[in-house]
Amino acid sequence: MIVEDKIQDSAKRRIVSKTVIREVRAFVADPTEVCADYHNQHDKHWINDLPIANPMSIYPEYKEKRTSWGINFLGTVVVEVELNDGTIGVGCSIGGEPACYIIEKQLSRFAEGQDPRNVELIWDQMWRSTIPYGRKGLVVHAISAVDLAIWDCLGKLRGEPVYNLIGGKTKDRLEVYAITPRADIAKEMGFHGVKLPCRFGPADGASGLRKNIEDIAIAREQVGPDFPIRLDCYMSMTVPYAIELVKAAAPYNLIWVEECLPPDDFDGYTALKAAIGHMCLVTTGEHEYTRYGFRELIARKCADILQPDINWVGGLTEARRIVAMAAAYDIPVIPHGSSVFSYHLQSAFTNCPIAEFLVMSPQADELVPIFGGLFKSEPLPKDSFIDLPETPGWGVELNDNLRLIRPYKK
Ligand SMILES: [Mg+2]
Repeated sequence: MIVEDKIQDSAKRRIVSKTVIREVRAFVADPTEVCADYHNQHDKHWINDLPIANPMSIYPEYKEKRTSWGINFLGTVVVEVELNDGTIGVGCSIGGEPACYIIEKQLSRFAEGQDPRNVELIWDQMWRSTIPYGRKGLVVHAISAVDLAIWDCLGKLRGEPVYNLIGGKTKDRLEVYAITPRADIAKEMGFHGVKLPCRFGPADGASGLRKNIEDIAIAREQVGPDFPIRLDCYMSMTVPYAIELVKAAAPYNLIWVEECLPPDDFDGYTALKAAIGHMCLVTTGEHEYTRYGFRELIARKCADILQPDINWVGGLTEARRIVAMAAAYDIPVIPHGSSVFSYHLQSAFTNCPIAEFLVMSPQADELVPIFGGLFKSEPLPKDSFIDLPETPGWGVELNDNLRLIRPYKK
């Protein structure tokens, strides 16, 4: 029996050793679907209908809604990586048709015909080949979607959830806090704290600053003294404004202020953290890319907590390097968004203490999948914890009724 098992094991290894990626396919999701671009809401929804301070808020004609300047215009890109044994892995990002073009026309050549276990080599070739025009933003989103799909294949090949491929679980359950304008409901739902969207920025002057403080004061009144409150500022502020805001908010005990400044203002983040770090933590990184961007944030002492988005930063292959680098400086990593993809990463690393969960129902009053109709069984928090199943790969499959279009089929 033991001999038979060994023979079977060895046969399995031989099959796996011949496994190659047959095809990389890139799709756009039907624009009526929410999917990976959760700003792509069509009905009335807090994420689009509340004024939320942003880099375009200085222009009156674009300040009311982020959709007015096109926050959701790219839409979702979905990638399927199919192996020669028929295994299909899925990844996604924001990037829509332009990301499909980059993936099908350039990136796919580094994956197709390659052993999917050579995920580092594939990543490096995707990265180096796009340096002349990439490095940040859309191109790295495209790389991320391919990388995540390959990891899904690897999990399915080995019959293991992704977190087991990168070291296994460091915690049984993952605590989550809520992003929502409704602190009261977040507390009722049992979340480990809340993050409020900041509604006003420097262009709204002293009255806007007062309204921001009022929002925080109301939330504090609703949730009591011990419930953690964070503030998400979505790149909308200047250093002096952020310092003034944090000082004015001192009585309400904010845990952190997030992404106050444009991501390229490394010097500004250094100054901000130096000025207010004793009052409130400074966090950023949601719009930063790759180990190189995060190396700058760490070296320049820009942030107390780093927040890469696994769907944007370069996928799991790059995100795990960032988490390891941050660990060497005792900096926690609390990823932005990225749902199930970040849950696997966070489960596997000790310096990822809590996850964020976007409360994406229109009135922020019920828990729905962050990626809308993209996946079957996207994990939702239960009692304010995420419990990942042992399903192979990321543990999610595309919904059967999802309408996908492949614009650049080879
Ligand atoms: Mg944010």
